[in-house]
Amino acid sequence: MTERLYESNAYDVAFDARVTEVRAGEGVSFVTLDRTLFFPEEGGQSCDRGTLAGFPVTDVQIKGGEIVHTVQGSVLPGTEVHGEIDWEYRFRNMQMHSGEHVFSGLVFRLFGYSNVGFHLSENSATMDYNGKLTADDIEMLEERANRIITEGHAIRAWYPSKEELAALSYRSKKEIDGPVRLVEIEGTDLCACCVPHLRNTSEIGFLKIISFENYKGGVRLQYRCGLRALDHYRDCLSLLTAAGRLLSAKQEDIPAAIERVQEEAKNLAFRLSEAVRMEIADKIRRQYEADSRNDSSNGNALFVFHAEPGLLRFAMDEARKHYSGICVILIPQEGGRVRYLMEGSEQVSELQNGLRERFGAKGGGAKGSVSGSTEASEEQLRGFFSEQGIG
Ligand SMILES: [Zn+2]
Repeated sequence: MTERLYESNAYDVAFDARVTEVRAGEGVSFVTLDRTLFFPEEGGQSCDRGTLAGFPVTDVQIKGGEIVHTVQGSVLPGTEVHGEIDWEYRFRNMQMHSGEHVFSGLVFRLFGYSNVGFHLSENSATMDYNGKLTADDIEMLEERANRIITEGHAIRAWYPSKEELAALSYRSKKEIDGPVRLVEIEGTDLCACCVPHLRNTSEIGFLKIISFENYKGGVRLQYRCGLRALDHYRDCLSLLTAAGRLLSAKQEDIPAAIERVQEEAKNLAFRLSEAVRMEIADKIRRQYEADSRNDSSNGNALFVFHAEPGLLRFAMDEARKHYSGICVILIPQEGGRVRYLMEGSEQVSELQNGLRERFGAKGGGAKGSVSGSTEASEEQLRGFFSEQGIG
């Protein structure tokens, strides 16, 4: 069994150990030591990083009771090696992890919910509870957790004797085989845990819940502590600064500025839609005047508009103000499909049959009004309708 130096020396950065076993992998060695400061991936928390014999350690896992280090280099069995952990990474994890104990202890004491899931890695930091919490509950818990943090409670980890353990009431995520390691936050919480901890809650610095969602009948919280909370705060401020710059607004005026932009966009969309309608009506009227002058109108008409398909109805109503025969409106869509509307005679049902047979058009309607769509091109459709005396 590898001696777990990180359990009693959570603040040590360097150590020396003897290599007990080496297995070769592709470009890496899987190294077992007689003792290690490297915390392996366990309890939902990602492993420590660092170097062993000068080579980067990229993974640390527990296999058959031993702690196996994935080392980017070659190490010989039986030799003494020097190891160093990435202290910055370890310390941030200790801040995040100790913060979780403070928060979960409070949730248990005030709501009776257990912490049933915990994930801590570079990309995620979540705590799951087997009961629901409201936004108000979470704000209250966050407030109290930060008070405990600033009060500076001592944190202690130890292996109690069987007798001592039997007399204690503590939180635990799972049934534990073998010796139980307890982590106590003085006057606040007692929990079984295998992970390195801070010495005092004041070192957590700050705890912030970022978001929460319903999860498996309970709740999942995203959170940050200490230096990672500071990183998150900086990221949020950068976003606000960027948004403020884009909107030419002070941070506190950003919501009002966004409302203003939305309102302007809505007005513009409305004015654009009015302009398009006027253009459609104008084009139809001018076409009709030209047809009347040339005496080329047989009462039928076909129009093509590059506009929203929602304007088919409007264009048809405008066309039928002038033309007494069959009116066809085509609106080509992005991606090649053409939407159409045909009205003015019962004969449009026959036209629809023709479009279906020749172009596989889809659609339908009744009583002299048929709408549909087809993949035929505008030219093909103009040709088809021209044969029917429409165009
Ligand atoms: Zn813990």
